[in-house]
Amino acid sequence: MKTRGSAAIKLMPSQATEVDSPVAAMVREVIKEIGEDPSRQGLLKTPERADKALRFLTSGYATSLDEIVNGAIFDVDTEGMVIVRDIEFYSMCEHHMLPFFGKMHVAYLPNKRVIGLSKIPRIVDMYARRLQVQEQLTEQVAKAVAETVGARGVGVIAEARHFCMMMRGVEKQHSGTITSTMLGEFKAKKTTRDEFLALISQRTNPF
Ligand code: ZN
Repeated sequence: MKTRGSAAIKLMPSQATEVDSPVAAMVREVIKEIGEDPSRQGLLKTPERADKALRFLTSGYATSLDEIVNGAIFDVDTEGMVIVRDIEFYSMCEHHMLPFFGKMHVAYLPNKRVIGLSKIPRIVDMYARRLQVQEQLTEQVAKAVAETVGARGVGVIAEARHFCMMMRGVEKQHSGTITSTMLGEFKAKKTTRDEFLALISQRTNPF
């Protein structure tokens, strides 16, 4: 924390018209360090914008599962599989702090209780808006759904593309990464997994 404070103090008053947040002050230093001029017009407010963007992209840390679910658990008699597929997500890889994004498919087998459908994408967002590893993101979503709804099983598949692969390093723009987590009956029963895979691969759009 000390170094953050001193970074803010080092700034020239002309560059920091208002008091910088620690993150904005550091972004200003980064801009200088890469050979840019933080006082040039287009970059003047960039540190504050980057600060806001970063706080939004990592807002999942300040969100809790209870807060999201907010009691939206309902008793049901059905036992059929529930799938929310093609949930867009945007996350940041924890190794490079570069984005990765894609789609997630979340399925579960209810055990007399279901969760409000809109809550599932919000659970995905809560974990995606953190510094992440795709494998871990997939698993965290699966476990959160399993715990929240007390499901007989949960299956989660994520398909994503990583900017750290596309823009740097191996520069493979078209490669995708698929991760999956299967819990309970999804892990134990091949027929359950097959049903899940068949349902998410149907590309007919009835709407
Ligand atoms: Zn990365």
